[in-house]
Amino acid sequence: MEFRNKEIAISAPIPPCQDDEYKEDAWGVENCGDSFQKITINRPKVTGSLVKLKMKYCGICHTDVHFTLNHIGGTMYPIVPGHELVGVVTEVGSDVTRVSIGSLVAVGCTVDCCMQCEMCDAGEDNYCQNGGMTGTYNSTKKHGHMGGNQDTQTLGGYSKSQVVHERFIVILPEGIDLAKAAPLVCAGITMFDPLRHWGAADTDKKMNIGIAGIGGLGTMGIKLAKAMGHNVVAISSSDSKRQLAEEKGASGFVATSDPKSVNEHSNSLDLILNTIPAPHDVMSLVGLLRTNGTLVQLGVVAVPAPVNQFALMMGRKSIAGSLIGGMKALQECVDFCFKHDIYPDIEIVDAGEIERVYLALEKSNSSGIRYVLDIENSA
Ligand code: NAP
Ligand code: ZN
Ligand code: ZN
Repeated sequence: MEFRNKEIAISAPIPPCQDDEYKEDAWGVENCGDSFQKITINRPKVTGSLVKLKMKYCGICHTDVHFTLNHIGGTMYPIVPGHELVGVVTEVGSDVTRVSIGSLVAVGCTVDCCMQCEMCDAGEDNYCQNGGMTGTYNSTKKHGHMGGNQDTQTLGGYSKSQVVHERFIVILPEGIDLAKAAPLVCAGITMFDPLRHWGAADTDKKMNIGIAGIGGLGTMGIKLAKAMGHNVVAISSSDSKRQLAEEKGASGFVATSDPKSVNEHSNSLDLILNTIPAPHDVMSLVGLLRTNGTLVQLGVVAVPAPVNQFALMMGRKSIAGSLIGGMKALQECVDFCFKHDIYPDIEIVDAGEIERVYLALEKSNSSGIRYVLDIENSA
């Protein structure tokens, strides 16, 4: 694994277990540059509104790769990644009302927020106005609803259990495939929420929607946009995923490495959801938008990209961004996917395979699938 920005990695060793915590097994990276290994972490004991889940599965998102390998800088080590958690509730605090022991639940990218600002009130806690949401891993416990040692970083789902405030629990529909459900709470919602926000979820008009980067997020984006009744154009770095994209539901295909293919689709798309996780030519995607179109940036790219203002002005085009989705949309997304039978294509792996998976994701995720960790069967 190729780590970056080692000079700005943060060392945040896990302190001894407090009386209000218990010890748990997890898989993480102890210091910037280390391999994955089994480590012992502390989780808060359950009180009040907290819910404990015994983990069954955790999806592996490309964001896990970015943070573990310190692509952006500022990763706190040790890091335990994972924000696509699925498990069974084994303990609830006395104030919990939404779930009970035995409930099958998921936890996504958010584990705390201020619970009182305008965005939190609207169920869009992912955009909490008081310091931003608390992420499932690599966040400080700034909002105070998490229990345990408040001076430690959050640690994610590559672990045998998780404890969260009930507000951040997604209730899984009965009968859902648990391994396939895990990626819905990041890959699914990250595509579902911008489709909803930019009007694709609730319209009689057939839109032309581009999905750029045909990996874990991208394939979900194709399926969701198609299920919402739109024409979907897959935008990929080469021609190699043409058949795969068509199988998922795309009716058009752009290979960005081929100028002819790009030209054929210029000025044609109403909306593009762009999941590309590395520096790329943003303006060539703007060229695919028709008048009034919007390019939504979703990939984590640490370096700025040049923008030609004239290309935006001439077609009243927009470049926007979107971050996962709030708890309200997240439950809607899971219910929508269950109703329409939309899931990612997955490969189940165990904890010994994490580094192989990270290498595959760094090499453009050639199969376009979501890898899902089988936590229960990982030793
Ligand atoms: P993934 O499964 O690895 O897929 C990424 C796809 O991007 C690849 O399959 C590839 O598709 C394309 N790509 C183009 N250039 C690439 C390059 N240099 N290296 C690797 N892939 C390249 O990743 P993912 O899990 O879908 O995540 C995609 C991005 O979204 C990541 O940056 C992740 O951190 C971010 N993300 C953002 C949010 C949010 O809330 N905004 C949420 C989750 C994830 P082609 O072969 O088709 O080109
Ligand atoms: Zn993710
Ligand atoms: Zn808030």
